[in-house]
Amino acid sequence: MLHLSKSFSLLCVLILAVVFSAARSEAQTDAAMSADPKIAAALKQVSADRIQANIERLVSFGTRLTLSAQDPESIAAGHGIGAAREWIRSEFERYSKDCGGCLEIKTDSFTEQPTERIPSATEITNVYAVLKGTDPENAKRIVLVTGHYDSRNSDTLDVKGDAPGANDDASGTAVSLECARVLSKMKFPATIIFLTVAGEEQGLNGSRHFAKMAKDAGWDLEAVLNNDIVGGDKSAEQDHSVIRVFSEGVPVASTEQDIRRIRGLGGESDSGSREVARYIADVGRVYDAGVKPMLIFRLDRYLRGGDHSSFNQQGFAAVRLTEFREDFHHQHQNVRLEDGIQYGDVMKFVDFDYVAHVARLNAATLAALAAAPAPPANVHLLTKGLENDSTLSWDASPGGLATAYEVVWRATTSPEWEHAQNVGNVMRTTMKMSKDNVIFAVRALDAAGHRSLPVVPTPER
Ligand SMILES: [Zn+2]
Repeated sequence: MLHLSKSFSLLCVLILAVVFSAARSEAQTDAAMSADPKIAAALKQVSADRIQANIERLVSFGTRLTLSAQDPESIAAGHGIGAAREWIRSEFERYSKDCGGCLEIKTDSFTEQPTERIPSATEITNVYAVLKGTDPENAKRIVLVTGHYDSRNSDTLDVKGDAPGANDDASGTAVSLECARVLSKMKFPATIIFLTVAGEEQGLNGSRHFAKMAKDAGWDLEAVLNNDIVGGDKSAEQDHSVIRVFSEGVPVASTEQDIRRIRGLGGESDSGSREVARYIADVGRVYDAGVKPMLIFRLDRYLRGGDHSSFNQQGFAAVRLTEFREDFHHQHQNVRLEDGIQYGDVMKFVDFDYVAHVARLNAATLAALAAAPAPPANVHLLTKGLENDSTLSWDASPGGLATAYEVVWRATTSPEWEHAQNVGNVMRTTMKMSKDNVIFAVRALDAAGHRSLPVVPTPER
């Protein structure tokens, strides 16, 4: 008996050692956040079947070209972008009914004047749902998920022909919808916005208008997650285990003065967008979304653009999520069979389980940020004297949720935060290492372990 139990304990120790080393090697960091069991449970509610039904519905409108029909007859007939818009609105309203009216459903409508891809003045409507934060101070903070509900075929001016856009971007629209359905059952101190925009294919018109509105209204928009082509196209070379996360390096909204500072400090890889990308990577390590973020340190793919850049233009942190490998036979193509090749962005190429995984990653990121305290303000690195220690100071995280702060750091050559040290509920700390050798940041945390986005300090002389 004794012998048996001894070998049993030895086995347990061995198993634990293996599990521990596996967890360590996967994380490759001791700066990871901790999982919130409520968020982990909510992710299980994300449904591939519902996502499939929603994409099917969006495809059923024939075309969702921004220039397509939006008159009452077409809406009643279920054809064109107007019908798609009304359906999205009704879907958000249904989710709101299920949570006792917890969502505020809004539209952002405007008339776009003629441009290269808009032959005559066209009304463009963004549809969104607001899950207002429960804490009056923190409700001013916003995190946002978006996808574009417009579509196109080979000809971006073809208002009549089919443009199913199942992957581009009914998949991203379905992510916004499913995040709204699942997260509206929870409460967060900060606000979450679930957005679907139009006009993307005509020149990012919808997102540009929305981002400018947010800027003009002074919104405290902490992070924007743009999902565009997240259908996991079923091509042979697809990697369904990863999702690419694109983020800008030097912010497009930088002033000359910002750029001088960035150049001097080696801050090329610390834009707000990049910190959001790193946060998503962290979320991918601690929550089981079913897909792993693959960080790409550039704004977007070559020669391509997306709605996140509209937010970047206004100085907001915004990233783009896109499947690992796009199939260009299935994007911006008339549906047709040619030389044995099926062209067109149709349902059969979309992997609904994959879209559900991406929706889980989005939901976890939105929830983690909306549950967290605001980032600390006015983070500074004291550089007055020549010394090998590094003193950081900051103002309290606004909104009163923070109970402590962490200093995180990484080697200047490392893509992600490697270490974190809890320094308690203080506004100043000295690290026994040289600021010249690492990149520091400070983040706020609450009693439950929710982490804010980290803030890289500016030097104070
Ligand atoms: Zn797209």
